Order: sequence, then C-alpha cells, then structure tokens
Amino acid sequence: MRTKVAIIGAGPAGLLLGQLLHIYGIDNVILERHTGEYVLGRIRAGLLEEGTVELLDEVGTGARAHREGLVHGGIELAFAGSRHRIDLKGATGKTVMIYGQTEVTLDLMNARQAAGLTTIYEAEHARPLDFDTDHPRLGYVKDGVTGEIACDFIAGCDGYHGVSRASVKPSAIQTFERVYPFGWLGILSDTPPVSHELIYSNHERGFALCTMRSTRRSRYYVQCSLEDQIDQWPDDRFWDELKWRLDSEAADKLVIGPSIEKSIAPLRSFVAEPMRFGRMFLAGDAAHIVPPTGAKGLNLAASDAHYLAVALREYYDDKSSAGIDHYSEKALARVWKAVRFSWWMTSMLHKFPDTGTFGARIQLAELDYVTHSAAAMTSLAENYVGLPF
Ligand SMILES: Cc1cc2nc3c(=O)[nH]c(=O)nc-3n(C[C@H](O)[C@H](O)[C@H](O)COP(=O)(O)OP(=O)(O)OC[C@H]3O[C@@H](n4cnc5c(N)ncnc54)[C@H](O)[C@@H]3O)c2cc1C
Repeated sequence: MRTKVAIIGAGPAGLLLGQLLHIYGIDNVILERHTGEYVLGRIRAGLLEEGTVELLDEVGTGARAHREGLVHGGIELAFAGSRHRIDLKGATGKTVMIYGQTEVTLDLMNARQAAGLTTIYEAEHARPLDFDTDHPRLGYVKDGVTGEIACDFIAGCDGYHGVSRASVKPSAIQTFERVYPFGWLGILSDTPPVSHELIYSNHERGFALCTMRSTRRSRYYVQCSLEDQIDQWPDDRFWDELKWRLDSEAADKLVIGPSIEKSIAPLRSFVAEPMRFGRMFLAGDAAHIVPPTGAKGLNLAASDAHYLAVALREYYDDKSSAGIDHYSEKALARVWKAVRFSWWMTSMLHKFPDTGTFGARIQLAELDYVTHSAAAMTSLAENYVGLPF
C-alpha cells in the first residue's frame, strides 16, 4: 500500500489530522490498534475551545456539536465556602463548548467513512520504519498477515503509550515530566448537572470538579489517592465525598444516581521535544500530556493536527519545507503555554500532601486574587478559552 501520510492512531489527533489532510487533497491512511467501538467507548475529555470547534467546522464535522453542544460563557471557582464566577466571555469575548470526546471522535469517524478514506482497525505491531530517510514505511500485522505502507511522512498520533515516540533513539529526544501525588476519581451519571457551568472546588478534603456531557448527563471528579482502587469507592461514598467538597448550596442541589462509568486517572505533565524526527512527526498525547484541570489535552491534540496539516499542505502545494521545518517549534510554543496553565490550575486547586497549611493559605490568597482582580481573571480566562493558533 502507498499513501502520502501514514497516521498511527485513530484518536482525536489522528482523525482530525486525517480529515484536514483530506480536505487539503493529501492522501492518508490511518492505522489503529483497537476497534472503532473500543475507541468510542473511552470516556475522556469533554470541553472544546472555540478554535477546536472551528477546526471541526473546517472539516465539515461541526454541525452536531453546534446542535447538541452546550456553550458556556463562564466557570465557577469554589473555595472557603463560597463560589465565584469567572466571566470567560466578558473577559475574552470567547466561550467554550461542552461536547464529549466520544462525540467528536464519532463525528470524525463518520466523516472519514463517508469520504471513503482508509482506516485499518485492529492493526497490531505497528512499526514506523526508515523515518530518518526519504522513504519511510509503516509496518503492521492485521489478522495475522504482515502489511506495510510506503509513505512520504508518518504522523505519530498514537497517544502517550504509543509506538511512535518509543521508536525514536533516546539521544534524539528530550523529555520533561512532573507526576502529581494524587489522581482523579471520575464518575459519569445520567443525572442533571448540579450547575449549568463547571464548578472547580478547592477544599481542605481535596479538589472536586462538577462538569457534564449534556443537560442530562453529569461528569464529576474528586481528587483521590494514587493508591485508591475503584472498588474502594462505591457510589454512595463518592457522592458523600463530593458533597463534602462543595459549597452548601451546590451540595443541597446535587442530584445523585447510579454511576454508568467510574475510573481513576493519574495526573501528569509531560512534554517530549522535538516533535519531528526526520519524516515522522508526533501530535497530541504522543508528544505531551497535561493534567485535565485546564481541559487542554484534547484541544492541544487539535491544535497540533492543525499546525501539522497546514505544514504538509505547504509542502505539497507550494513545494516548501518551511512549514514542516517549523512544525515542532510552533506546536511546542503553544504546548508549553498549555502545560504551564494546566500545572498552575492544578497547583492552585488541589490538596498537596507536602505543602501543609502554608501551601493551603497561599492557594486561598491566589484564589481570592484571581476572583477579584480583573487582570488576574482575564489572564485565567484567556488561557482557559484557549490561546490563539
Ligand atoms: C483516562 C483519561 C481521561 C482524560 N480526561 C480528560 C479530560 O477530562 N479533559 C481533557 O482535556 N483531557 C482529558 N484526557 C486527555 C485527552 O483525552 C487526550 O489529550 C486526547 O485523547 C488526546 O488525543 P490523541 O489523539 O492525541 O490520543 P489518544 O486519544 O490517546 O489516541 C491515540 C490512539 O492511538 C492508538 N494507538 C496507540 N498505540 C498504537 C499503536 N501502536 N498502533 C496503532 N494505534 C495505536 C490508540 O488506541 C488510540 O486510539 C484524558 C485522558 C485519559 C487517558
């Protein structure tokens, strides 16, 4: 098989890149380890920046998001027993949209199928080969049969545990990492959200987040220990803990119900530099991870896909390598700002085991400042709605 761009991974980064390349007239094939159903079953991010929605519009998959997505003009920060609104729209003119990653993925998969583009699901043992030459190849095994895709470029959109980054020789890559000493226990429930906007809560028992996927489906998180196991958190314990960590008005309003999904996710900041190795590029979680506090993971995957698609269009249409030569630098400049913001939100809102009462007082001072200074509020809002790309 031969294509121009062989993409590893049918997550948001790979699927969006595939659609952008398609509308730019660049032939591409996606190789995915799992089935489409498995990919769609993973409950992950749910908040889209306006720039991400614009990219979905650009590839013609934004219609359902505009119909079903919930547009939010603000978020609330809860601390010291009360809630304070950050007016995102007032501060920046921009909004964010609640629309689940599973829905984004489904829309992109449907568009890919409708366009008749090739996606090889259940492809095992993907191997990026010869990407330091002008003739890269992507090896894989499907149904026990070995296959190979000859291509001009490989796009490693295969997430944090993918094979692309792992195929680079260690001396060619530098990584930066911070692992946080706690995780997020999240549940999904078919109950109406406690508030129409997100509530981020700093509490002495630990962080909590009230978010949603629709007007009937809620997503709630509480900070938990990394040692915790799911079976230690029956629904009743989760709801009790969440109520503890909310202000009394929200705790009274909270509608509880059985969880339909429950999982624990560790929190990590991670960046790999550079994001280009000869004729292989990394995009999305393959190159960087952020703690979900800033809601940036999915949005960074989208901006990487945009930068890479535009660079490749320049390569094919204008016969210029300038775009692909600057892809890594351009993407990383935005990535690091989102890494900083996600780290800062995480630091301000969580209970840290080693910073004691001094650390807790500093957090309260910062929250008080952020919710009362127009300059600080604007800075938070500008980052939360997404820096331009
Ligand atoms: C448990 C969890 C919860 C999250 N919650 C949030 C959240 O609340 N908010 C937020 O903003 N972000 C969240 N994120 C982050 C967000 O979901 C990711 O940033 C986003 O999925 C990145 O998209 P991606 O396409 O780069 O990677 P992925 O979505 O990981 O997609 C990578 C794809 O590559 C495939 N793949 C991997 N290896 C191979 C291989 N060898 N061969 C072929 N295919 C391969 C995988 O199966 C997968 O389909 C969460 C992430 C996780 C893991």
